[in-house]
Amino acid sequence: MLSFKEKDKQYVANTYGRFDVELVKGNGAYLYDINGKEYIDLGSGIAVNTFGAADEEWKNAVIAQLGLIQHTSNLYYTEPCAKLAELLCKKSGMKKVFFGNSGAEANECAIKLARKYYSDNHEGNTGKIITLVNSFHGRTVTTLSATGQDVFHKDFGPFTDGFEFVPANDCEALLSAVGDDTAAVMIELVQGEGGVNALEQAFVDCIKSAAEKHGFLIIADEVQTGNGRTGKYFASEHFGLKPDIITTAKGLGGGLPIGACLMGEKVEFTLGAGDHGSTFGGNPAVCAGAVSIVERIDEKLLKEVTEKAEYTKTKLLKMDGVKSVSGLGLMIGIETAKPAKELAVACLEKGVLILTAKTKLRMLPPLNITYEQLDKALEILQEVLTK
Ligand SMILES: *Cc1c(COP(=O)(O)O)cnc(C)c1O
Repeated sequence: MLSFKEKDKQYVANTYGRFDVELVKGNGAYLYDINGKEYIDLGSGIAVNTFGAADEEWKNAVIAQLGLIQHTSNLYYTEPCAKLAELLCKKSGMKKVFFGNSGAEANECAIKLARKYYSDNHEGNTGKIITLVNSFHGRTVTTLSATGQDVFHKDFGPFTDGFEFVPANDCEALLSAVGDDTAAVMIELVQGEGGVNALEQAFVDCIKSAAEKHGFLIIADEVQTGNGRTGKYFASEHFGLKPDIITTAKGLGGGLPIGACLMGEKVEFTLGAGDHGSTFGGNPAVCAGAVSIVERIDEKLLKEVTEKAEYTKTKLLKMDGVKSVSGLGLMIGIETAKPAKELAVACLEKGVLILTAKTKLRMLPPLNITYEQLDKALEILQEVLTK
């Protein structure tokens, strides 16, 4: 008999370099493997399990909806989808929401929306979208085209036209790239996959004033930074930025697949019936769970996220083997003396699941991780760093 690890190796596509651990269950920031070994989770399944594993409130909300109806298609109205859209608009000041099933789909919607807005306002012409070098916007052909990292482009062309890249924090380069042919500038306020680097305020201000001058849209890809991760509901709030379009996904569903494209007042009527769609988008069970997540991301929780982040960063900066710390809120990049991947593997052996991003370690713990769990995980990290 094959173990499930062996079956996975035999039958699941070879697209992932998995860590050598077979997870079976969890409770908040604790996870357990097939042998009953306990781990402290500093990754949340890549910023997805907002309140950790098997969160009671979220689970009950999903189960209650599963007992009513699990799916209807978008031909009909359902309450959880409407309620979630209302909540997201109230949290963000945006006007309308389109639901898909992933970050890439949220970004696909944003790209279509920006293109149509440009076309509507420029006699059917096409406009280009500027994104940043080292960005990450998804794995579909178009969101890969928008992603400013060559490593992802090898072998998969031809790509979707109409994207141009400028280096992050380079106002001059941005100003020479944008013009009246620009439909949108699309940014991550903190580049996640690119190495947990927050944009500089001056660069965000530069984009804002260029947008006012040329009339292009600003798209904030908050797939990873959204839903309380950085200590604000959306990271744009840290920068005083009101994007025309916000995309989000990862933490929104608390563990189930969902993506959302939030539309501001300029674009709320741009897409009409038939312009875009998704069979699974706005699924009632997923949305019911998401409602239970979004409702709990209030001022009190956001303050806790900020405090935990400060606490963690202070501790990290005192550690031997830590060169620098980056990021916002509980989205933390750690530059280490030793190679990050080796450290992550060593942490795993000692019972801590931690991620990497480029050459850094990356922490994205559940927002409700306890100080006790943080202390324990950081102690293990310190051991590993100095071993
Ligand atoms: C993860 C991520 C995506 C892609 O999300 P998927 O759900 O994997 O499609 C897009 N943008 C950012 C900023 C992300 O972090």
